[in-house]
Amino acid sequence: MKENYEYDLVVIGAGPAGYIAAEESAKLSMKTALVENRQLGGTCLNRGCIPTKTLLHTAELYAEMKACEHLGIHVEDVSCDMSALQNRKEEVLEQLRSGIAALMKKSRVDVLQGTGTITSPHEVCVTGGKDSGRCLSAKSILIATGSVPARLPVPGADLPDVVTSDELLSKKSLYPRLTIIGGGVIGMEFASIYSALGAQVTVIESLDRILAGMDKEISQNLKMILKKRGVQIHTGARVESIRKNADGSLTCCFTEKEKQETVESDGILCAVGRRIFTDGLLGEGMELSMERGAVLVSRTGQTSVPSIYAAGDVTGGVQLAHAASACAINAVAHMAGQQPPVRADLIPGCVYTSPEIASVGLTQDEARKQGRDVLIRKYPMSANGKTVLSGQERGFIKVVADSGSHKILGAQMMCARATDMISEFTTAIAEEMTLEDMGSVVRPHPTFSEAITETVRG
Ligand code: NAD
Repeated sequence: MKENYEYDLVVIGAGPAGYIAAEESAKLSMKTALVENRQLGGTCLNRGCIPTKTLLHTAELYAEMKACEHLGIHVEDVSCDMSALQNRKEEVLEQLRSGIAALMKKSRVDVLQGTGTITSPHEVCVTGGKDSGRCLSAKSILIATGSVPARLPVPGADLPDVVTSDELLSKKSLYPRLTIIGGGVIGMEFASIYSALGAQVTVIESLDRILAGMDKEISQNLKMILKKRGVQIHTGARVESIRKNADGSLTCCFTEKEKQETVESDGILCAVGRRIFTDGLLGEGMELSMERGAVLVSRTGQTSVPSIYAAGDVTGGVQLAHAASACAINAVAHMAGQQPPVRADLIPGCVYTSPEIASVGLTQDEARKQGRDVLIRKYPMSANGKTVLSGQERGFIKVVADSGSHKILGAQMMCARATDMISEFTTAIAEEMTLEDMGSVVRPHPTFSEAITETVRG
């Protein structure tokens, strides 16, 4: 077998799985190339996490400024310039993209522009970009080609102004009325952004609750908070069709409790999940074991072809940037003959609504379904000084622990800084800490995090 490969690793796709894998590979002194046909940073940086949170940051500040009389601030004529916001978003993305480019350069990773196609277990050929025509030989290949927004298979889904998150994130004006199909993570984040910016928002979700993967109490509370802000939420509702009206507006027809309903709006966001992306990935004669479009991998990230690994959305697991990076790091470690350094089985989930939502480990329902005897500790953030003084919304922290050993099994939070604070619980679960272990350290006062002490001490 040929052993003098040009590279130790060729990575296809420069999202949070791909570029982190390339960096990690370089750290382990492996000669590395990274092939990307769009921009560095993938979905997360260019069409996902970062642009969404940039818009959300402005939207929240705007909503806060409009309602800051009670804080002793009088503001007149506050307005939001969507075009200026788009320019700022582009600046943020550009700054972070150049950060990745600098990191690749510093790590001596060769970045190639074009579509990478695997032509044999040790060869990737590049087409369609600046580096078109190059064929790279590699000891290992990592597939990190991600996912794209799924389209809804209903009549009218391809009409203008029926958009996915990709298009909505780049829109230079606000739809005054927005219908969101899908009450999952993307749907809820956009409902938060658009309602804070003053749009009239309607959500249509086919399951019986929004954020169905999260703790029930979180779904109920978020629904209540959004309703209070004027967001209409329809659950157990199926979209049947969409039509364009003579005045340019859109009518979305749906069935709720067996009744035909309609809602009119200026734009419709389709947020019904993401499709795994492998277009153009495999050359003629190349085959990998796949299931429902996802590349199947072992715990160490290996596909059915031992020299080919995959990480991130393309593997069909949880579609989160930090999960993708974790799996990528473990895959590279395996290529280098090392043990996986990251607990990729323990992935916190975060929703950047206002208030923020975060969850790790088991929920109360999941623990009970597993037949575990659990102890629940819950603390309302209305009793937390920092929450009250900063005028935050209602919220809570909930901890699920084993009732015998008091070992932490999971935590769910809905409050300011939840997405930062959840890491305390991730560490606690990874380190098999008990409620008492978590309660034995001093957290500063006044902070949001001291509510963790109150929760675990009960
Ligand atoms: P999702 O799976 O979270 O939610 C899609 C929702 O659409 C589901 O609740 C589903 O029941 C509903 N749905 C599907 N078909 C429907 C129909 N015909 N009518 C009405 N409702 C319908 O998917 P998403 O929100 O599109 O997000 C995609 C992926 O990206 C998810 O895995 C998500 O975790 C990830 N993501 C994560 C973050 C974050 O971590 N903050 C942010 C954005 C996206």
